[in-house]
Amino acid sequence: MKKSTAILFAFIISQFQAQQGAYYQQSAKYKMDIDVNAEKFTYEGKQTLEYTNNSPDELNVVYFHLYWNAFKPNSMMDQRVASKGKNGDSRLQKDGVSRLASIPKDQEGAQNIHWIRQNGKDLKFEVQETIMKVYLAEPIKPNSTAIFTMDWDAVIPQQIRRSGRNNKEGVDMTMTQWYPKIAEYDYDGWATFDYIGREFHEPFSDFDVTIKINKDYVVGAGGILENSTEVKGYDTNAKIKADKNKSIWRWTAKNMLDFAWSADKDYVVKSFDVPQGPKVFMVYQNNDKTKVWEQAQPYITKYFQLMNSHFGKYIYPTYAFIQGGDGGMEYGMCTMILGEAKDIKDLMGLMAHEGAHSWYQQMLATNESMRPWMDEGFTSYAESYVMSQLFPKDLPNPFMEKLNAYRDFIKKGIEEPAVWLGDHHDNGTSYTYASYVKGELYLVQLGYIMGEQNLAETLKQYYDQWAMKHPSDRDFLHIAQKVSGMDLKWFQNYWINTTKTINYGIKEVKYDAKSTTITLVNNGGVPMPIDFSVMTTDKKIVTYQIPLNMTHTWKEKDAYGEFKTMPYWPWTQKEYMITIPYTKSQLSVLGIDFSQRIADVNMEDNFVEVK
Ligand SMILES: [Zn+2]
Repeated sequence: MKKSTAILFAFIISQFQAQQGAYYQQSAKYKMDIDVNAEKFTYEGKQTLEYTNNSPDELNVVYFHLYWNAFKPNSMMDQRVASKGKNGDSRLQKDGVSRLASIPKDQEGAQNIHWIRQNGKDLKFEVQETIMKVYLAEPIKPNSTAIFTMDWDAVIPQQIRRSGRNNKEGVDMTMTQWYPKIAEYDYDGWATFDYIGREFHEPFSDFDVTIKINKDYVVGAGGILENSTEVKGYDTNAKIKADKNKSIWRWTAKNMLDFAWSADKDYVVKSFDVPQGPKVFMVYQNNDKTKVWEQAQPYITKYFQLMNSHFGKYIYPTYAFIQGGDGGMEYGMCTMILGEAKDIKDLMGLMAHEGAHSWYQQMLATNESMRPWMDEGFTSYAESYVMSQLFPKDLPNPFMEKLNAYRDFIKKGIEEPAVWLGDHHDNGTSYTYASYVKGELYLVQLGYIMGEQNLAETLKQYYDQWAMKHPSDRDFLHIAQKVSGMDLKWFQNYWINTTKTINYGIKEVKYDAKSTTITLVNNGGVPMPIDFSVMTTDKKIVTYQIPLNMTHTWKEKDAYGEFKTMPYWPWTQKEYMITIPYTKSQLSVLGIDFSQRIADVNMEDNFVEVK
């Protein structure tokens, strides 16, 4: 081969790889200086952003999110709340009316960009409410870095959703989605979703943030506090430094999606180390209503140990549970949660959910706006699993409560497919079930189909291959299929893209002199393999696996018990007959899936008591 041909060939291959969407991810480094006016609930900001384009594309524009511009009357978020009426988020409403509509002028949220420069040159930009489009002076070529500088000021909005001033428990400032944040650019293009109160997506970034605020404030944040000896709350020997009555807090963080912080005069800070990490901070107002936080340390310790061993190691050095916000919301290395809880189980439920987002959202950074079921659903799965270990209950599996809630929800007839964009569901409850519940049950069904050991191995490999990256549903499915050897595309398509349901039943039982023959029927829209079990009068359980032909490989073992494998059931076939070597007098119960993991919507015909 001639040299020129070889070069041409290499060029063609690289172009081919680019077109095939070889994986890349953008990266950002923020340096920010923030000066807070605590009396007025405003701040001034300066940002230097080093943005590296690792994509194969030349970028002529970049986009930033300005989330706080949503907190105004007639904003898109207001319109969305108003259009939903009673089906909207109750936190955004008062007596069925959007709270944004009546927000006082001086408490409207704002992020006003004074100027933005690229490598020192002024740039033209346009703001469409929460999205700022910036026209570049020179394109950012593949594998090159641009330096943006920016000046802006902001008004901290009335606390309505997640961020804001004076939350209902009296936390002064919840500072989330508070800075101009560069949008994610990936294989799906720019993630320029208008903010209407839901999910986020952004590149992994490094942060170096200095916050100047009145010295009587304590700041909580997700990150490393670099000067704990100069500020209030973190170090008993601190010599508080102040200039014109303000302290300077310096926080850093590496490889994180988002930097969030909060500030209050009444915060206390407690910390402890989980063996093998992380160091945990609890930042909250210590009063009668938050007494239960004092019991949290042993539960949080066990929580991180369970999460680390089952879902992959938490890689950041610290994690902070911070009282703030309007419920619970996850951020890099921290969460903002309401602090008042009725008991330790209530508090841990919230901490377990938000903490688990450090895995399913933060380290495994899926696009939440496009695939909310992957972050809310997988997080809810981890929450149910860990809570069943921390507070054991006598149930057939850890997911029973969600399965039953799902069955009740289906009866309402308002289900919407989980594949929909998170912001575009018509109904808040439908969004919750599509993302949190269907996403959780997606994993529960996979555990049932391929066996719990295979599911655990899939989750482990998913973490090993995709931590600190942006995986998609295809990446997860790819691993699940490889680990199990099964074809699972049919399941993912039915479960995520449609609202079809699972409904198997026992149609008929015939007792003979030496055996019993059962006719099973598929009355539903989603085919599934069936684990059929009998309990004998002497309390022995015998299980028969009836594989579904579409998986092509059969489940070999399952943590829920041993089984014999029967001939497969083609998905096109309505009924299936199985003959078992037990007589009527030897049997006590017959049933589909004694583990009760299958999300069958009608359980009434799944079990037969032999009388
Ligand atoms: Zn969540």
